[in-house]
Amino acid sequence: MSQAPASLSIWARNISPSPTLAVDAKAKALAAAGEDVCGFAAGEPDFDTPEHIKAACAAALAGGKTKYAPTPGIEPLRAAIAEKYLADYGLKVAPSQVIVSPGGKFSCYLTILAICSPGDEVVIPAPYWVSYPEMVKLAGAVPRFVLADDRTGFRLTPAMLEAAITPKTKLLILNSPSNPTGAVYSRAELEALIAVALRHNLYVLSDEIYEHLLYDGVAFSSPATFSAEAAARTIIVSGFSKTYAMTGWRLGTTVAPAPIAKAVAELQSQTSSNATTFAQYGALAALKEKEKTAAALATMLTAFDRRRKFLHAELNKIPGITCQLAQGAFYLFPNISSFGLKSEDFCTRLLDEQKVAAVHGSAFGAEGYLRLSYATSDTIIAKGVERLAKFCAGLKK
Ligand SMILES: *Cc1c(COP(=O)(O)O)cnc(C)c1O
Repeated sequence: MSQAPASLSIWARNISPSPTLAVDAKAKALAAAGEDVCGFAAGEPDFDTPEHIKAACAAALAGGKTKYAPTPGIEPLRAAIAEKYLADYGLKVAPSQVIVSPGGKFSCYLTILAICSPGDEVVIPAPYWVSYPEMVKLAGAVPRFVLADDRTGFRLTPAMLEAAITPKTKLLILNSPSNPTGAVYSRAELEALIAVALRHNLYVLSDEIYEHLLYDGVAFSSPATFSAEAAARTIIVSGFSKTYAMTGWRLGTTVAPAPIAKAVAELQSQTSSNATTFAQYGALAALKEKEKTAAALATMLTAFDRRRKFLHAELNKIPGITCQLAQGAFYLFPNISSFGLKSEDFCTRLLDEQKVAAVHGSAFGAEGYLRLSYATSDTIIAKGVERLAKFCAGLKK
């Protein structure tokens, strides 16, 4: 909870600042002060944006693409995104159903605003991405958390979902691959969840921002591809940040059934207007120059996969820690409950004593865990996990 004065609105007083950004900022401040910090807190790829994407943006900027663009995005980009969904998943969407926004985060927020009225309930599986509950509250709606811990592989079961639904439930938020756990639902698991959601007439916000960051040959599936009924209730949020190492560009996408796409575009027209015009030309190159983009993505995935396996193996060597091998995104979510410390205290002491930055599980609605991002160098991962082992050994005494 923030320390805002009572004269501020209920929105300002009720919002919690992002704990992931806070831990990362603290780690970066320590590093700037000369400390040798091993940062596992960042929620972004450690790679730079591929050159061809930067070049296309630079050319657009030089060419005067500096004016307002249509609110939902430049036409060629909306068309390229629609083509991508058809090519990748066989999903037919019209460019008019595609909204380009200033970031996937904003796409999530506008989707929630388009669907939820005050008092509506939103089912959010925990561990959850830190922004969902706050966005739901900013719409006056009520988050209903369902904890799916490591006993179900951090995946919600249909029975758990069913039990969380009330007559007020309007929306289910799904995020596969998941931030913070890296868990990926199989198609069959998702189909079973969507069947429950459809039976209760819920909308589904499917946050697919990590759709291309998958390992071990697992396939991605989107609920929107399951049936016409599912497509009519599913809003896909994705974006360029994670797949193309473009976090600073602020470019997200929403693909929604026509009435919702229209509502999201209208909300965007009165809040942010279009995403940065010349940045959209960079995104267009990411989708159009397929071979270069695929090569850059393959390089990142090779590095992520190597680090994922290494970090997972090292974590499980530490007495007291157990960690599942996640198949997506760039996070692992080890269980530290055996140490009997609150995850926030564990992380504060870990940073103070060993200069290792990790985000406490409680920030994601799951006490007894840590989120470690392996979107950092192999050297830092090796050094950081060694320090973590030392820290844990000290706790065991
Ligand atoms: C990073 C992230 C987003 C969106 O990021 P943007 O940079 O705003 O596009 C959305 N959902 C999850 C779960 C994320 O981790």
